[in-house]
Amino acid sequence: MDLIAVAVPFFLLALLLELVVDRIKGRNYFRANDAINSLSAGTLSTTGGYFTGFIGLFFWGYILENFAIVDMPLTWFDASPSGIVLWVVAALAWDFSYYWFHRFSHEISIFWAAHAVHHQSEDYNLSTALRQTSTDFLFSWVFYVPLFLIGFPLEVLLTVKAVNLIYQFWVHTQFVRRLGVLDYVLVTPSNHRVHHAQNERYIDKNYGGMLILWDRMFDTFQDERDDEPVVFGVRKPLANWNPFWANLQVYDYLWFDAVHTKRWRDKLGIWFRPTGWRPDDVAQSYPKSRVDLATFDKFDPPVALAVRRYVLGQFLAAIVMVLLIANLYAKAGAIAVVWPCFVLWAQLYTIGLLNEGRVYAARLEAVRLILVVPVAAGLFVAASVIPVENALLWTAVGGYVAASLLGLLYVSKSRIEP
Ligand SMILES: [Zn+2]
Ligand SMILES: [Zn+2]
Repeated sequence: MDLIAVAVPFFLLALLLELVVDRIKGRNYFRANDAINSLSAGTLSTTGGYFTGFIGLFFWGYILENFAIVDMPLTWFDASPSGIVLWVVAALAWDFSYYWFHRFSHEISIFWAAHAVHHQSEDYNLSTALRQTSTDFLFSWVFYVPLFLIGFPLEVLLTVKAVNLIYQFWVHTQFVRRLGVLDYVLVTPSNHRVHHAQNERYIDKNYGGMLILWDRMFDTFQDERDDEPVVFGVRKPLANWNPFWANLQVYDYLWFDAVHTKRWRDKLGIWFRPTGWRPDDVAQSYPKSRVDLATFDKFDPPVALAVRRYVLGQFLAAIVMVLLIANLYAKAGAIAVVWPCFVLWAQLYTIGLLNEGRVYAARLEAVRLILVVPVAAGLFVAASVIPVENALLWTAVGGYVAASLLGLLYVSKSRIEP
């Protein structure tokens, strides 16, 4: 059973509930543009994972099959006392490995390049939890290899992995303040808020997934302080709403420095240095200024109300598309969802542009509606996933394109209110 797929409807419900409470209490913990960008990154991560997830699984399976030290049959992990102890040991072992994976993800440049996506949101709410990277398939699996070498069954480790990830959802909220003794033992909203901060005092702290005890043990714990409110986000702001660029931004910084530095040792070494390290020559030629947190402003380009409404409509359509794709993927596998994913990704891209208030965004959106959507539907039919005579498909595509074009006409006549 795919636990994460089961959890998604609950995630969305909880998110909706938090949004309603936020509006009633007038806290402003949610901005639509930031939340949509976070959810777009999460969507990209999930759908991209359909094509990259096999990499980690392949290596884990291979290691388990050929190098496992203990042969642990799945039947050991039953509901008996010894079986339960084994489950707990596996969950703790995963959480311990997660701590180190997460710590490297912050402290070494190339790993930070993959992980930064999760931290770019300048708000902090349940949508931030779903803001996940699309590129950690490259090396995140390496950190869990010892568990497969020990010989824990794949099914057990995939289950504790899912539980670990699901646990981390609820801690991304500002509505839960302090939880007493729980803040001491578990990762909680308070100590995970610290982890998402860009304040000097809070940087590189609280890496735990489920237990904060690892941070206390390895000296990376920092308590949230009333005299220092958390400023959320990263020190080099993303400053756009493009979910693709969100995944590439830090790689781009590193690539720039690697190309411009003169020494070969630095061109290669920069990727594995502590995060933020730059070769002397490029740091001098291309200095970077530090953001002053006292005058920090969230990225929030002004956009007309009509555009915001249109974007919200398109984003809801994208969520429907995600659910259809997930369903198709479960039934027919990765190849069947290639084209639908491209259509979805194009939509997420134009949603980002519209939210940034770009002048060419509406034109690009029109091209997407008139060209990309019908062609993709045709390809979908050509791939024999849906028969050509399926009237529902064509009605849905036609209705969607027509309604969107009308919406776009409304958008093109709108102006930003002074
Ligand atoms: Zn992190
Ligand atoms: Zn987080």
